This record gives sequence, C-alpha cells and structure tokens, in this order.
Amino acid sequence: MECLPVASNSEKRNGCDMAALKTSYISLEPMKLVLLDRDGVVVVNRSTNIKQPSDLALIDRASEGIRRLNGAGYAVAICTNQPEVGRGAMSQAQLEIVHAALEKRLREGGAVIDRVFSCTSFRKCPRRKPAGRMLEEALAHYGARAADTPFVGDQADDLKAAFHVGCRRILVKTGLGTKALAAGLPGYLSPFVIAADLFAAALGIIDGRS
Ligand SMILES: [Mg+2]
Repeated sequence: MECLPVASNSEKRNGCDMAALKTSYISLEPMKLVLLDRDGVVVVNRSTNIKQPSDLALIDRASEGIRRLNGAGYAVAICTNQPEVGRGAMSQAQLEIVHAALEKRLREGGAVIDRVFSCTSFRKCPRRKPAGRMLEEALAHYGARAADTPFVGDQADDLKAAFHVGCRRILVKTGLGTKALAAGLPGYLSPFVIAADLFAAALGIIDGRS
C-alpha cells in the first residue's frame, strides 16, 4: 500500500481561521507546536491495536496535559505509525473514525488536537518512524522550528524520529516508555527528557524545563 500523508480535522481551531493565523505567524514568529505519539502517550496501547472508538482509552491526565498546552498557546498534533492499515487489518476509513472519536473525546475535556498525521505503511519508509518525514511534514504544516518543537513519545523509534529532524525529545514512562528505558537507549538520542506521563511532560514544556 502506498503511504500517503493523512490528516484529519478542519482548518478551524477554537473558532480561528488557521490559514490566516499561520499567515500572521510568517511575519511574527514560528508557531508554538508540540508533537505527540499517539499510542502509549495519549491513549492506552492495545495489543490488538485500536480499530474502533470503543477501543480508545485515554491515558490518565493526557487530556489535561493537552489542555494546558493549548492554554499556553501551543498547537498540538499527533504523529503516529498505524501499520495495521497497510497490513489490511483495518481500513483507512476505520482509522479516520478512530481519530475523529479521539479528537471528540479530548475536546470534551477541553483539549484540542489540531491534526493527526499518520503513516500507514507496514514497511520501512521515509515517513514511518523512526524515519523523520512525517514529523517534517508536521513542522512544515505549522511553520514551526524543529529545535523549538518537542516530540513526546514512549519508544526509541519516537526519539529517533525526533533526532533525525532535530526536534526536542521527551520520553514518557507510560505505554512502552518504562520498557524502553530498561532496554537502554542509544547514546546519540541524548539529551532527552524523561517524564512520568504526558501531563508531566506538558508542564515541563510550558515552564521551559523541557
Ligand atoms: Mg507509542
């Protein structure tokens, strides 16, 4: 299956016209952006993957963490590998239904995910983490600088993708994070911040610790 950029959500956020907002940022400063992995960071991992909205379970305090980031002026977007689509175990339409449900669930908690970037390839490809092209697409979409943009993940591949594009790196202990730390991470991924969960990571980003 061809791996194409996939994004959801409209260009309206909090009633703002995002195109106009981005245009205004061109003459001011780069957009404040935080990129997140999905599984193990925002939602609980499932060994059978998340194929329908009823499979979604938010990680504790994830919604509050995203809400705090939004309140501090950050756009928040997800960059997720979803190879089950490429393998044919679920359809692109199902994936989009899951993401629409996730965004709705978060909005109910006052948290806004502006966009979801997905790589559906089940083979290595330039967009699939640990490669960096999906993150590059997100940075380009928002006109954000990599060095100013944290990527929050729970696996070595997340940190590797962030490393390849020059994003700041945060590993959360939720999902597979504790396991990744125990397994040991390559030295070139340092420095990276370790946070208990997305909420703790968000507070660190907001107060400039990470
Ligand atoms: Mg993950």
